[in-house]
Amino acid sequence: MADDFHTGGCQCGAVRFRVEGKLGDASVCHCRMCQKASGNFYLPLVSVRGAKVSWPRGERKRFQSSNAVWRGFCGDCGTPLTFEAPDGIALAIAAFDRPEGITPTIQWGTEAKLPYVDHVPSLPGEETMADVDAASYLAHLESYQHPDHDTETWPPEEKR
Ligand SMILES: [Zn+2]
Repeated sequence: MADDFHTGGCQCGAVRFRVEGKLGDASVCHCRMCQKASGNFYLPLVSVRGAKVSWPRGERKRFQSSNAVWRGFCGDCGTPLTFEAPDGIALAIAAFDRPEGITPTIQWGTEAKLPYVDHVPSLPGEETMADVDAASYLAHLESYQHPDHDTETWPPEEKR
């Protein structure tokens, strides 16, 4: 896939986006608003102000988090999707189908960084199936998550 064409969307697949053109700066933001908007320690975002963004499926809901900024998300499954400011839109990096190629290069909002974030990489790590308490259901897990590529047939007939 070309460097200047990207796709992505929410977890349930109701909202999909396409980006044609070069991605801008990729960052993570530790500010309290980005923590809340993502339900997470920080929010990874990539600017798309220099690219053409289209929404081939669905329509994002938006919450105005300040006089300047709107936060877009899927109204069905809740996945955070956008940060929309007067100087342009940024998209949530992990909502892309290929987030591994979008490497953050700067951190913002560090005054609000949670005290244990820097400690995470030093925590003990295990693969998913190593969780013995969850193994009984994980072994039979069936994903309802949208696959990481555009498809005309989603959700599958039996889940509509
Ligand atoms: Zn969704």
